[in-house]
Amino acid sequence: MLRPGATIGILGGGQLGRMTALAAAELGLKCHVFTPERDSPAAEVCARVTVAPYEDETALEAFARGVDVVTYEFENVPAQTARVVSALTSLRPGARALATTQDRLEEKSFVAGLGLPTAPFAGIDSVADLEAALARLGRPAVLKTRRFGYDGKGQVKIADGMDAATAFDAIGRQPAILEGFVTFTREVSVVAARGEDGSIAAFDVCENAHRNHILDVTQVPASIAPETGRAALDAAAAIGAALDYVGVFTVEMFVVGDGGREGIVVNEIAPRVHNSGHWTIEGAETSQFEQHVRAICGWPLGSPARMGDVTMTNLIGADADTWQAILAEPGARLHLYGKTEARPGRKMGHVTRIRRRP
Ligand code: AMP
Repeated sequence: MLRPGATIGILGGGQLGRMTALAAAELGLKCHVFTPERDSPAAEVCARVTVAPYEDETALEAFARGVDVVTYEFENVPAQTARVVSALTSLRPGARALATTQDRLEEKSFVAGLGLPTAPFAGIDSVADLEAALARLGRPAVLKTRRFGYDGKGQVKIADGMDAATAFDAIGRQPAILEGFVTFTREVSVVAARGEDGSIAAFDVCENAHRNHILDVTQVPASIAPETGRAALDAAAAIGAALDYVGVFTVEMFVVGDGGREGIVVNEIAPRVHNSGHWTIEGAETSQFEQHVRAICGWPLGSPARMGDVTMTNLIGADADTWQAILAEPGARLHLYGKTEARPGRKMGHVTRIRRRP
């Protein structure tokens, strides 16, 4: 168990690292960020920063020796980076969580192996594989690169009329997974923390709406049946336990069917705090960032209880120009990530609105 005053190392310098470092500071912990990026959002709020590539083993070793635990704020940490760090200090969540979630085929096979529902899927290494899988799974289907996809990048929907070679070209002929198309009614996520002792604390299920493949609005509670919510939380708990996970993780799911026949289909696991959990900063008794810090320090988890009905809206690109109007709005809580350049599609901040329970 770490003591207040200990130092957390964070691989990655984005807004997730920034909000984790802010939560750590509230608990008297220090953070050291390791990022290849100059002027990163996380570095602005941390005492110590190393700016170096993830492949720079000398810099990584010095970083790992100077901190008490290392965590990461993105799932594409190279395996060798994880190995170098793990040899010198504890990496939380561990290498297993990274390996499973970095590769969509590994991830879907793992989830299906737990007996949880997923889209039907097949591994794809060639146009011939893709033709065979399309014949089996039907159209439409979604072809995704196994690695490095996010926010809809590295994937293509294959409808009638697109031939297999065109689709495989569209994702750069990389190792891929083909998924049957899931006709869902809504998209939800479970953000949960798992402690060193195996305890689990999940936030209420979040309902997520996307715009241009990027998260736009999260609402809690989700408009789902209570049994669907329980199934979602149970699925997340099973995933956390099977990964022997320590820290916060997120499971993105589709809700299918309706009325009495509603169910969930697991889409993706993020081994980290998540955009759909940003509402917990004001909307829950313990934020996802504090939960992550507590878990990786070996501390007891806090209460994930919700304070009211919550809406979190992302400020993407020029949306952040509305900051003055948001400041003037009673009850709206503005977060800006300190990014200087508002490129289209870039997450610049978010705003949380809570309707408190009477
Ligand atoms: P992902 O990168 O896996 O999170 O996918 C990005 C978005 O594409 C999801 O949020 C869904 O809206 C959509 N999508 C992904 N996979 C499927 C699927 N198998 N069936 C239908 N829609 C999907």
